[in-house]
Amino acid sequence: MTNKYMYFVANWKMYGNLSSLNTLDKVIKFSKSKEIKGGRLIYCPPDTLISSFATKFENCQIGIGGQNCHESKDYGAHTGYVNCRMLKNIGAHFVIIGHSENREKGENDKLINLKIKSALEAKLKVIFCIGETLSEKRKKKTYSILSKQIKIGLNNIKNKSNIFLAYEPVWAIGSGIIPKSNDLLKTVEFIKSKFIGKIPKVLYGGSVNPQNINNLKKINNIDGFLIGGASQNTNKFIDIVKKTYS
Ligand code: PEP
Repeated sequence: MTNKYMYFVANWKMYGNLSSLNTLDKVIKFSKSKEIKGGRLIYCPPDTLISSFATKFENCQIGIGGQNCHESKDYGAHTGYVNCRMLKNIGAHFVIIGHSENREKGENDKLINLKIKSALEAKLKVIFCIGETLSEKRKKKTYSILSKQIKIGLNNIKNKSNIFLAYEPVWAIGSGIIPKSNDLLKTVEFIKSKFIGKIPKVLYGGSVNPQNINNLKKINNIDGFLIGGASQNTNKFIDIVKKTYS
């Protein structure tokens, strides 16, 4: 059993609409109960729902985040995008940056660095995703890829106190496969070793579900979980939190 303060981030990806708000009553009740122990819940719905989530979560401690942002802190002619000031303005406290689904579409480490800087300037906390692909893992490049993503992604950012890292091996996302416990322990240790002074919190993401959480929770250097598919089902999300603390 853990008593650690853990973060549980729900990444809803491009799912959800106004009727999804009804599913949150259960999680709001849970967040106010003693069962939550030392956990902090954070929901990252699509941008279209952030404002409604903010209203819904008004009287509870559940955090809200965006799933991506434009790199510019200024308003401008960028059709189809929102920046971090806009996310903050509608009630977000966090933003996910560097998710592999966006890296796959061409986001590189330099762009991610600009996005992180603009998020910090807008006073959002950043959930900075890093992780290797299957072919990089097979070539034993995991640590060098993570080092590069961290080095460039956090270039010229002195104060890292509002940054969480989310280690998400690309091959584990949505696949039902998770890393071996010992590999994960060592990789999280490696990520933390890249920092001096205050070490950022490191979350794990990739196919977390109510079945594998019993193993994942034993990896004691993990500070929380970034949960995609399973978080869209309130019962599963709550179950993951409960099992972490049982
Ligand atoms: C994610 O997309 O960040 C993620 C972890 O997804 P899943 O839990 O579905 O693997």
